[in-house]
Amino acid sequence: MKTYDVVIVGAGPAGATAAKEAAERGLKTIFFERGRKPGEKNASGCGLGPRMWREFDIMQELTPEVCPSMRAGAAARNYFVNEDGVVAGYLMTRPTESVSYEPAKSFITMNVYRSDFDPWIAQFAIDAGAELKSATLVVDLLKEDGKVIGVVDEKGEKYRGFVIGADGVISMVARQSGLRTRWQQQQVTLVPQYDFAVSPGKIDDIMGDEALAVWWSATFPAAYQVFFRDGFHVGLGNWMTWWDRNPRVYLDRCVGLPYFQRLLRILDAKPREFQVHLLPWLEYPYNTHTDNVILVGDAAGFPCPLEAEGIYPAMVTGRIAAEVAVEALSSGDTSKEALKAFDARWQKTSVGKEFEAGRELAAIWRALPFSPKETMTWFVPMMMDVLGGIFDWSQPHVRRVRQILQNVKSYAPKALPFFMQYVFPLLHKVLGDRLYKLMDPQTLAAALPKVTQMMKQEPPTTEGE
Ligand SMILES: Cc1cc2nc3c(=O)[nH]c(=O)nc-3n(C[C@H](O)[C@H](O)[C@H](O)COP(=O)(O)OP(=O)(O)OC[C@H]3O[C@@H](n4cnc5c(N)ncnc54)[C@H](O)[C@@H]3O)c2cc1C
Repeated sequence: MKTYDVVIVGAGPAGATAAKEAAERGLKTIFFERGRKPGEKNASGCGLGPRMWREFDIMQELTPEVCPSMRAGAAARNYFVNEDGVVAGYLMTRPTESVSYEPAKSFITMNVYRSDFDPWIAQFAIDAGAELKSATLVVDLLKEDGKVIGVVDEKGEKYRGFVIGADGVISMVARQSGLRTRWQQQQVTLVPQYDFAVSPGKIDDIMGDEALAVWWSATFPAAYQVFFRDGFHVGLGNWMTWWDRNPRVYLDRCVGLPYFQRLLRILDAKPREFQVHLLPWLEYPYNTHTDNVILVGDAAGFPCPLEAEGIYPAMVTGRIAAEVAVEALSSGDTSKEALKAFDARWQKTSVGKEFEAGRELAAIWRALPFSPKETMTWFVPMMMDVLGGIFDWSQPHVRRVRQILQNVKSYAPKALPFFMQYVFPLLHKVLGDRLYKLMDPQTLAAALPKVTQMMKQEPPTTEGE
């Protein structure tokens, strides 16, 4: 048996960060990766948000020399696809003046393939003195008197030490430590995804500074597209309970859109890989630790409850787990009770802030991109009327505006309950009791006569409407 202070299962962003932080604090650290190198399975679209630059110094060292697929993008495009498969409109957005963190004005995400990023970040841990054991599957936990004291690899080799489970969504550590049996079906999404190769430079020429796109549609769950230097991903996901046929059927609906096919032709994009991944999507992480064990990143369900951004929370929780391990080991108390410090600490970070509104954020996401048939059937045409309805030169503008208002009003029976059920609770979470002040019946009653007065001033209906 080999003895370490800390034994980390997984060399993704969570495991590599935990390993770096533990080794830097003087702990004898080993981290395991089942792939021949970290990032071998090139797991997922990797949009890195500016928060990472804000909080992790190493991010300053991420350059195209070390991560050739890296590409920054400042624009996000939302395509609205109608029930006939036509792109009825799109909305392009860039960071606005209200963005307060300066670097976030120049990019929304830095996109890097995980086959580049994961080995890069693991190298910091190795440089700090952690030992990386790749091509090694950890198959079990080592126990003494029912308590976890280390891990066992596929060759039966035993490693003793404090265990950090950074082994992703299907976490052996979570299962074998008794922290979780398996995810409930409403806690995990299944994401099929295509990767396309594109000649370097072509994406910049054609897409400009677009970082990503979302395809909102009534006929498939919202699909995302992430642009790298030499290719892009397109994928979509939904709860395990949602799929009524092979998920690829829905992804193919998006890729098969005439607009998408045109994009493939212009970019001269070549299919490179098809992948299917699981992604935890929780309202709130739970059961994160037990005696001598902490779970971090996807293993504990830390992706953001709105968009499932998971790399940043993986790194934050990896770092905190290492800090807590150092303290617990030096005090000689690694009990479940002592490790409560882990929860207390991540809850105080930006990740914890996100989960304060976890239920409301997750609910709104379930109701929008994950409910195409229920929501997008009215959301897409309503958005199009609001955004583009005025471009009808067959009528005088005043009459056209009245027609648009009339049409938008017809969506009210579906839109209003949606806003009351999903948007209102989120606003309440954000504004607290100020929302009630804004909605105060007396204030509203005082405003009503003015609104009625304005309505009286509307011109009489014109003949032919
Ligand atoms: C389709 C998709 C798109 C996504 N897009 C984004 C995005 O754009 N931005 C973003 O921030 N997040 C994104 N995410 C989420 C993000 O990928 C995860 O949250 C993140 O990778 C979690 O990091 P981790 O280190 O916890 O786990 P992982 O990245 O899963 O790393 C776990 C590592 O452990 C290894 N491992 C597992 N079990 C064992 C074992 N028993 N023995 C040895 N090694 C083991 C695995 O091979 C893997 O390398 C996306 C996820 C998916 C599925």
